[in-house]
Amino acid sequence: MCGIVGFTGKRKVIADLILGLTALQHRGQDAAGIVTFKDTFRIKKGLGLVNDVFKEKHLSRLKGKIGIGHVRYTTHGTNDVGNAQPIVTNYPFGIAMVHNGNVTNFVEMNKALYHDYHVLPASTNDLEIILYTFAAELEKKDLAHITPQDIMAAARATQERVEGAYSVIAVIANHGLLAFTDPHGIRPLILGRKATDKGWVFGLASETVVFDHLGYEVMRDLQPGEILYIENGEDIYRMDGYRAEQKFCVFEYIYFAREDTQLHDTLVAGKRVRMGMQLAKKIQAAGLEPDIVIDVPTSGYFAASGLAEALGIPHHRGLVKSNYIGRSFISPKQSEREAIVKRKLNPIKNTIKGKKLVVVDDSIVRGTTSKRIVALLREAGAEEIYFASAAPPITHPCIYGIDMSVRTELIAANKSIEEIRAYIGADALFYNAPEDFAHIFDGFSYCDACFTGDYPTEQAEAVVEEIEKERLRFER
Ligand code: SF4
Repeated sequence: MCGIVGFTGKRKVIADLILGLTALQHRGQDAAGIVTFKDTFRIKKGLGLVNDVFKEKHLSRLKGKIGIGHVRYTTHGTNDVGNAQPIVTNYPFGIAMVHNGNVTNFVEMNKALYHDYHVLPASTNDLEIILYTFAAELEKKDLAHITPQDIMAAARATQERVEGAYSVIAVIANHGLLAFTDPHGIRPLILGRKATDKGWVFGLASETVVFDHLGYEVMRDLQPGEILYIENGEDIYRMDGYRAEQKFCVFEYIYFAREDTQLHDTLVAGKRVRMGMQLAKKIQAAGLEPDIVIDVPTSGYFAASGLAEALGIPHHRGLVKSNYIGRSFISPKQSEREAIVKRKLNPIKNTIKGKKLVVVDDSIVRGTTSKRIVALLREAGAEEIYFASAAPPITHPCIYGIDMSVRTELIAANKSIEEIRAYIGADALFYNAPEDFAHIFDGFSYCDACFTGDYPTEQAEAVVEEIEKERLRFER
């Protein structure tokens, strides 16, 4: 999972790119990169946070009224600058591209690039599959007289061949800004705009918080398979693209997106409150009477507040998180994850001591974090601990760019709910069920494959096996 932004208009875009990426920092902390275009591509990429990679000097070096940016979260492969985005090619003429997601027919497309298009990608980064498929399709056009329709047709041909989850933004040198999503619209991409004294600036971003921070008007989410092309910073073209049934990632609402973001016109925080209210019904049905609700910061906050409101009991801050230690969920190695859990949460003993409490987290992936939290709360004097997960049991890995571990490490793939309760050491354990989500997201079409195994793309089982093999190799 990563964060992407792109801007084009009638003024320089570097400040918006850097601030936009900063607003998406929660989506990836491993690397950051920006490409702008003025006469030539201007590139800066580096490992670490946006504020570490970009310095004041880059404001003047990264010139241009069009540009794209990326924050990276490592799902598989090594975390080195070679894997950072954007990626730039001069084939068939200048293209710079970023994406958020994961290509699932990587092996097939890697071969197809060589045999069908006579292109050999330089790395194992799946963005290259999208970039070179698009570039090869573009090369079939009359390059001296390329039109917006040619560019969008090349994007559509790319969607027809590349499977998986991807939201893409690209700069086409001397032409414009292109954006498209995969046929199911699994990953988010949102269009915004801002009026300036020099004219409109248009933006594309993974989350609306980017536009809130920059003072842009949010226009709308891209639809599944939709293609947008903005030429010369002002003329917007669109095409339906290669479309299938919408399968938007429901985990964006549970964990990944920021609470104040709107996805498909729905506030993420509001959905989390509903998840908490649904959990409250299960606690009531079990006949339990907790004294307080606490959240696992920060993504458990709104589910906890909904749960407390529904039960009519206080919601307190019982765990304090250090903001300067990375998220355990997205650290690639098990040893790093465990060390991070130990350092990042500290209980407030005065709040917890002698209480029967519900502790609410967004999800339980491997169970190691939950077990540690329960132990911390016991040490702090909690009388009884009821653990509540906003997400249903995660029984299948995500093949669309969220690191959900391998099946052997997913605790709910291998243990019953009672066994998980015993493992984490809680007095009771509650999960929302996939059916509860059908109620919470009534009428909205989403992907829930990590809870149900119902993957929206072809050959998913083979892809799961391939990804698991690679991850195990990497973690060894
Ligand atoms: S499998 Fe889960 S995490 Fe992956 S895209 Fe689907 S809902 Fe999101």
